[in-house]
Amino acid sequence: MYTIDLSGKTALVLGVANQRSLAWAIAESLGSAGCRIAFTYQGERLHHNVTKLASKYDDALIMACDVTSEEQIDGVFAQIDKDFGRLDIMIHSIAFARREDLEGEFRKTSLEGWRTALEISAYSLVALSNRAAKMMEKHGGSILALTFQASQRVFPNYNVMGSAKAALEHAVRQLSSELGPLNVRVNAISAGPVSTLSARGVAGFTAMAAHHRKKAPLGRNITAEEVGDSALFLCSPMASGITGTTLYVDAGYHIMGI
Ligand code: NAP
Repeated sequence: MYTIDLSGKTALVLGVANQRSLAWAIAESLGSAGCRIAFTYQGERLHHNVTKLASKYDDALIMACDVTSEEQIDGVFAQIDKDFGRLDIMIHSIAFARREDLEGEFRKTSLEGWRTALEISAYSLVALSNRAAKMMEKHGGSILALTFQASQRVFPNYNVMGSAKAALEHAVRQLSSELGPLNVRVNAISAGPVSTLSARGVAGFTAMAAHHRKKAPLGRNITAEEVGDSALFLCSPMASGITGTTLYVDAGYHIMGI
């Protein structure tokens, strides 16, 4: 029997908003394997939530990080270096688009809406990976991003978020090629619909989740815990031969034609 033991390892988990966040489920899986975790939150609004959730881990680090601020990103890595002295895993579980860009006609997306969605949801992976790679180059490491199948197929109302996820998945491949020689692996999980704060911001999310449940080979939707466990696998030595991959954790929905 195999077990995953990440004791002595450290992870940076970006994107916990509340206990429903996929980032929280991933942190729980990494934490259960003994990994020490640094959490970030965006803005004072989420400080309390994240501090309360993370309080179950005595040795957790909690920092503010809005990924549109290079200064805050630099501050996060400086603090991890100071407190942990190493970084083995980074989880990018961040996405944002303006509400008006997640409904109606895609062709009406404004330049500002496009820039916002792609900057926060895709470019941030590049900016963060550049810093993470510097801390991972000694021992190797694993970077994981969260994506959605709207990168490949049309999902009504996902609109500019589909463009952002296509850019994110490309960045995963490009980064994995560049960072492979440092033994830093870069992968993505393409998750099926899970009712979270961001997901509920997409118009028609509930109907879409019901459709998924009906059509998926497993006949159900996935849980956040299943995403957490798949993330643990991908970031562990059990996945040491896997990089540049998008792993679908969607109850099989992506293989269906109709
Ligand atoms: P969530 O709990 O709302 O997490 C999204 C996180 O992104 C929030 O913590 C949010 O903070 C953060 N964020 C937004 N703008 C940011 C910024 N400028 N700087 C730093 N953080 C920022 O929703 P989730 O569903 O777990 O989303 C996590 C990831 O999974 C996203 O990449 C999402 O696209 C992906 N995903 C989700 C599903 C799903 O059905 N839930 C399916 C496939 C993929 P605020 O709350 O302050 O905005």
